[in-house]
Amino acid sequence: MPANPPAATEAAAARLDAGLLAALRAREPLLWTNPQAAQLPAGAGALVAGFDIESARARLQRFSGLMAALFPELRPLGGAVRSELLELTAFPASLSDERGEPSGAWFLKGDHALPVAGSVKARGGFHEVLALAERLAIAHGLLDAEQDRIALQMPAARAFFARHTIAVGSTGNLGLGIGLIAAGLGFQAEVHMSADAKEWKKARLRERGIRVVEHAGDFAAALEGGRHRAAGDPSVHFVDDERSADLFLGYAVAAHELGDQLAALGRTPSALQPLFVYLPCGVGGSPGGIAYGLKALFGEAVHCFFAEPVAAPCMLVQLAARGSEPLSVYDIGLDNRTDADGLAVAQASYLVAPLMRERLAGVFTVTDDALLRDVRRLWLSEQILLEPSAIAAARGPLRLTQTNSGRDYLARHGLGQRLAQATHVLWATGGALVPAAEHQRYQALGARLLGEA
Ligand SMILES: *Cc1c(COP(=O)(O)O)cnc(C)c1O
Repeated sequence: MPANPPAATEAAAARLDAGLLAALRAREPLLWTNPQAAQLPAGAGALVAGFDIESARARLQRFSGLMAALFPELRPLGGAVRSELLELTAFPASLSDERGEPSGAWFLKGDHALPVAGSVKARGGFHEVLALAERLAIAHGLLDAEQDRIALQMPAARAFFARHTIAVGSTGNLGLGIGLIAAGLGFQAEVHMSADAKEWKKARLRERGIRVVEHAGDFAAALEGGRHRAAGDPSVHFVDDERSADLFLGYAVAAHELGDQLAALGRTPSALQPLFVYLPCGVGGSPGGIAYGLKALFGEAVHCFFAEPVAAPCMLVQLAARGSEPLSVYDIGLDNRTDADGLAVAQASYLVAPLMRERLAGVFTVTDDALLRDVRRLWLSEQILLEPSAIAAARGPLRLTQTNSGRDYLARHGLGQRLAQATHVLWATGGALVPAAEHQRYQALGARLLGEA
């Protein structure tokens, strides 16, 4: 973050309703519902030209043999990157001292345990790197379009990839996701990180032979560093977290996976059995891709909400503002300082924000203390360890029933009587690669906040 975040400007502030602006500046946890959300039917009507989920799905399928060969952890699933859907039996009740528990069934989508990368970034990051590897290899005659991608394991392909660098700007997890798959294929990998990125994440990257370049400033500064590095050099490919369609589509594929898991439980979303999905949002790529995929599959039967820290509600600010020019959290006087490092982003993705305008039901904000309490509660109630960013979705179902904006949303959509049949999915986005000592620190902070002895 800049040493002195720019003061809020009058012009920026004037783009938001005064009441909302005051609540955001006061860092009050709130639920904003999106007045521009449209009724989009499931199917082609919900898709945008150029954002083709099926082609991304087919690509991941084509590469599954190679992925299984490169990463033994992926072999049990035949090279697919998938996570479990876990029913939360005790966690909802553990929140009940915060004023009651909503009805319906609660599930956790376990992307915190995605193989290899240990976060949701595996989905977008792997797809982005595989798409690049495929394009490069075909263009240079190392692969036929129809050939099994396993051929990219051969020395000639690896030697070719070794002459290319994949650069990415990251607060940590995207660097791990991209860096590990890039190194696995034989590319050089370089991760541009903000100064406040966690030390252990930098160490873990370096252990795997990935270059770490540190930048003073925030996530946007790290991105700029990576972009600059790639600009003058055709052998460097920059993965642009603020604009990449391949990242976005990799995330979108998760919708089918969730759909299959819900079908197996007899919970296919419908008007009678609505699905609510709550997703932690940083720049917006992962939650945006997943929401895009879910709207395409289930249309009005699915309601997607993003969760952001009170210090960094970048997607909320962008979507709630009048006009579509970029608006950052600094513009309204917030500082983007949060323990939720995966969500510490001041400016929403230029690619994703416009795609969310008609698709997103709303955004809610969460304090860091609430994140730490919920990390602790999830461990005590379900024995699942997440990093603070990854639990941000946990308060979603409560916000829906316990705020005026939430109750209005339910009433407007005729959902008041449907909650008993509702499925709530909290998307858990990271944690499996967090070192034990770091988990212990989060647990101790959460325990103290909960007043444990
Ligand atoms: C990156 C990240 C997110 C948010 O994803 P974006 O694509 O930045 O919106 C959420 N949780 C964790 C743990 C992350 O690393």
